[in-house]
Amino acid sequence: MGPGVSYECEVQDGSHINEDHFYPEIIHPDTLVQLPHGQQGELVFTTLTKEGMPLLRYRTKDLCTLYDGQCACGRTSVRMGRIIGRSDDMLIIRGINVFPSQVESVILEMPEFEPQYMLVVDRVNNLDTLQVQVEVRRDFFGDDIGRMLNMKKTLADKLKSVLSISADVKLMEPGSIERSQGKGKHVIDKRKLV
Ligand SMILES: [Zn+2]
Repeated sequence: MGPGVSYECEVQDGSHINEDHFYPEIIHPDTLVQLPHGQQGELVFTTLTKEGMPLLRYRTKDLCTLYDGQCACGRTSVRMGRIIGRSDDMLIIRGINVFPSQVESVILEMPEFEPQYMLVVDRVNNLDTLQVQVEVRRDFFGDDIGRMLNMKKTLADKLKSVLSISADVKLMEPGSIERSQGKGKHVIDKRKLV
């Protein structure tokens, strides 16, 4: 027991870290290099007062940003911003951080699709490629080519604006994407299979 790692003040501009008890750092999840405050990366912390079970640069796997400077509430402790994802899930495609959850949120917004999708990442001629396979709902699936192409383009445009990289959208028949449980179920990263 003891103080929590962080708490939110009345200003709600990030979470104040209890720096007397926890030393926070942001690292790059792949290189493990420490990043300056203000840059996004994985939060790690070291306990300063725990005696029974101290933690040294404990990797939270949470991706966020640390902020310096006085908060509007008057406190001067380091604050952490909103957690934007898990480092386990993060894909780096053409140098851009991509989360399956970003793709999912776009798909969930469109009634044409089932919440079933797969990200296939590959590397062709030294360039990362991203294919997003998504199941079309039965009511929307058909042989009207114009309608299907429209659906595909709409999704591709939305994905590009959210991810900042273009993805090749592949429309799949209802029920064709394998239902599986567990981590990584939405990603096939062929770059790692070589
Ligand atoms: Zn504050």
